[in-house]
Amino acid sequence: MRIIAGLCVYAALASSCNSGGGPVQPPDLPPVQRPAFDAARAFTDLEAQCDFGPRAPGTQAHDDCRAFLLQRLQASGARVVVQDFTSRTGLSATQYDFTNLLGIFSENKPGDVLLLAAHWDSRAVADHDPDPALRDQPILGANDGASGVAVLLEMMRGFAATAPPRPVIVAFLDAEDQGVQGGPTLPDAGWIIGARHLADNWPADLPWPTQMILLDLVGGDSEHNDRVGTPPMSDDVFTLPMERRSLQASPDLVDRIWTIAERLGHDAFSRDLGASVIDDHVPFLEAGVEAIDIIEFVPPEWHTQDDTPDHCSADSLMQVGDTLLEYIYGD
Ligand SMILES: [Zn+2]
Repeated sequence: MRIIAGLCVYAALASSCNSGGGPVQPPDLPPVQRPAFDAARAFTDLEAQCDFGPRAPGTQAHDDCRAFLLQRLQASGARVVVQDFTSRTGLSATQYDFTNLLGIFSENKPGDVLLLAAHWDSRAVADHDPDPALRDQPILGANDGASGVAVLLEMMRGFAATAPPRPVIVAFLDAEDQGVQGGPTLPDAGWIIGARHLADNWPADLPWPTQMILLDLVGGDSEHNDRVGTPPMSDDVFTLPMERRSLQASPDLVDRIWTIAERLGHDAFSRDLGASVIDDHVPFLEAGVEAIDIIEFVPPEWHTQDDTPDHCSADSLMQVGDTLLEYIYGD
């Protein structure tokens, strides 16, 4: 399925404005320098999260990664907001400590508030592993969690160097990936607990976002993996189709992002219609935010023991991060 782009209409209108005799225009301001996206450095941030081990609820690795992300937010110059909460999960009746970590940049600048988000927890079970003996073990979550966080960490370096021209909130969301398909016991079957908590308990000292761009599973490679094979809904090429809920609810934002990616030659972005995914954008969509999810659904290693850095790609991180920086600074 292809979507007809309408941006040329807006571009044509904009270029015709003020032509021929209107009020004198102020001199053009120099364009804001767009930060570069360093793919190798982003990949190092993916590995750094995995070095803690699986960031499953209640683990030392989860605590360690929380401290790591908090330090990185504080070092970025953002105003940091920490939202601690407790919840059981779809996988366990235990009450765990969870934390959404947020930082706001350019909060005094005009413009719509953009929320950039990724989940930083990793799944406590590998229930899609081809080996049944490995399914009760936690996944490392190199792609499923760490990839989106790594893109945001690298973008934050850019925000620290050159403040975004509009307010941007970066959110590292906890407790996304602890649900059970069809589980009846919790809202959303125990998925997206952190995002639901954030949307329902938005910090009073942060502006409510107009737009949200969620990153999930944005680090996959394009290699065949013999051990996991090619499951249904997967292929061996890193591809970002248009997630169905995003396209239905926020078609203009999807089109803007995909158009920029095409202009930049980032060919992982595909105008194929993707699956409808329960992910952290859903509570914000329901609350009226123009929200989209950039997600490969599903990579072959999804929820298996092979969700490791050696099945991820720095180029994939770059395609997503470079596109988003262009959207924020240059579009
Ligand atoms: Zn997952």
